[in-house]
Amino acid sequence: MLPPPRPEFELIEHFRKHLVQDANVLRGIGDDAAVVRWPESGRGLITADMLLEGVHFQCPPATPREIGRKAMGVNLSDIAAMSGQPRFAIVSLGLSKRHGPHVAIELFEGMRDIAAEFGAVIIGGDTNSWDGPLVINVTLIGDPHPRGAVLRSGAQVGDWIMVTGELGGSILGRQFSFQPRVHEARQLHEFAELHSMMDISDGLAGDLFHILEESHVGAVLDAAAIPISPAAHQMPDTRSPLEHALSDGEDFELLFTVSPADGQRLLKESPVNLRISHVGEIIAEQKCLLKTADGTLQPLPRMGWNHSI
Ligand code: ADP
Ligand code: MG
Repeated sequence: MLPPPRPEFELIEHFRKHLVQDANVLRGIGDDAAVVRWPESGRGLITADMLLEGVHFQCPPATPREIGRKAMGVNLSDIAAMSGQPRFAIVSLGLSKRHGPHVAIELFEGMRDIAAEFGAVIIGGDTNSWDGPLVINVTLIGDPHPRGAVLRSGAQVGDWIMVTGELGGSILGRQFSFQPRVHEARQLHEFAELHSMMDISDGLAGDLFHILEESHVGAVLDAAAIPISPAAHQMPDTRSPLEHALSDGEDFELLFTVSPADGQRLLKESPVNLRISHVGEIIAEQKCLLKTADGTLQPLPRMGWNHSI
C-alpha cells in the first residue's frame, strides 16, 4: 500500500477534479509543468501579482472566496490594461496552518470562477502550508490583441486622458467586487487608437505618474471632470470625495490616453457599457497639475495609495 498522501496532495487532487477544461491545455495539473498550445500570434503577455494576508486583506472579514476572486481579478485587470485576452493561470498558495482545507477550496473556487468568466483557466501551481499568514500568487498568461498591446509609454502631447467607471472609496466594498475591464479594454482598442493605458490600482493620481514617466510627458487633470464614486462620498473621514477619487487604490478601472478626435468619438458613441470620462490632457512639460474648481492650476502630489491597512 502506498502511504496516505500529504493534505496538500488531497487538495491538489480536489483542484484537479474541479477545474474548467480547455482544449488548448494539453496537460494541466498532474505533471511537473503544464503543456499548452500557446501563443497563437508568436507574442504573449505574462503578469504576476501576489496578495498577502495582513497587507492586502484580512481573513476574516474577507471570505476565502472573495480573496480568491480578488487574487485572480487583479491579474485579469493587468492583462486588461494591455488590451489582452487572459488565457492560462498558475496559482501558488502559501496556506496558513490556522486555516482548514475548506479555505483553500473556497480560494480556488473564487479564482477558478472569475478566471472562467473572462476566458482563462488554471493550469497548475504550487501548494505549501506554514505557520505564517495566507499568501497567494497568481501568474497569468494572455494573448495580446491582434492590434498589439497597449503600453504605458505611448502617451502623446495633446492626448486626452480618460478613465472608465467611477473612482474612490473602494475599501467600502468594491475592492473585492470589482470587475476587471477585460472586455471594455478590447472594445476600446478596437474602436479607437489607444496611445497608452494602465489599470488604476494605486489611485488615479499615483498611477498617472507611471504613464507620464514612461511616456516622458506631463499632464493637467481637471478636478471637476473626475468621476467620483458614491462610495467616495460615504468615506467616514475628513478627506474630500475628490481626494478619495484621486488617491484611493483598488479601483481597477482603466486609465488611457487617445487623440482628441478619438476622445470626442468615444464620448459621443462609446463602444462600452460603462461611464467614460475625459479627465485631462497630456502636456509636453514633465509635470502633473490639477486644475481646481476655481480654474487655478496646482501641482498634483503623487498621492498613490500605500498598501498599509
Ligand atoms: P512538483 O513536485 O512537481 O512541484 P507539486 O506536487 O507541487 O509538483 O504539484 C503537483 C501538480 O499540481 C502540478 O501539476 C502543479 O502544477 C499542480 N498544483 C499544485 N498546486 C496547485 C494549485 N494551488 N493550483 C493549481 N494547480 C496546482
Ligand atoms: Mg511544486
